[in-house]
Amino acid sequence: MENKLRKRLQTGFISLHILHHAKEEPVFGGWLLEELHEHGYNSSPGTLYPILHGMLKEELLTVAPINVDGKIRKYYSITENGRKELKLALSYLVELVDEIRGKGNHDK
Ligand SMILES: [Zn+2]
Repeated sequence: MENKLRKRLQTGFISLHILHHAKEEPVFGGWLLEELHEHGYNSSPGTLYPILHGMLKEELLTVAPINVDGKIRKYYSITENGRKELKLALSYLVELVDEIRGKGNHDK
C-alpha cells in the first residue's frame, strides 16, 4: 500500500501542478497525465479525475468541451480564485523550502 503521507502530499502537488499549467493555457486530462508522468508522478486517470472534479467544485478551475477533430475534449482553465490560491500556496511552499534548506529569515 502506498505511503499515506506521500499520497496526501501528492494530491496537493498534483493540484498545484494543474493550476500552474492551467494558468498558462487550458489543459485536458490526457495531456496532464503525460505531463505528470514526465515529472515522475505515478498518476492514473483514477487519481487525476477525482482531483480535477474536486478543483471544479472548489471553483479553482472551469471546464469547457472543445471539439478536436470530431472528438469532444474537456479543457480545464484556471479561475480568478485558482490564481489567488496558486499564488498563496507558492508563497507557503517557497517559505517552507527556504526554511528546510536553512535559508529562512528567523535568525538573521
Ligand atoms: Zn509540468
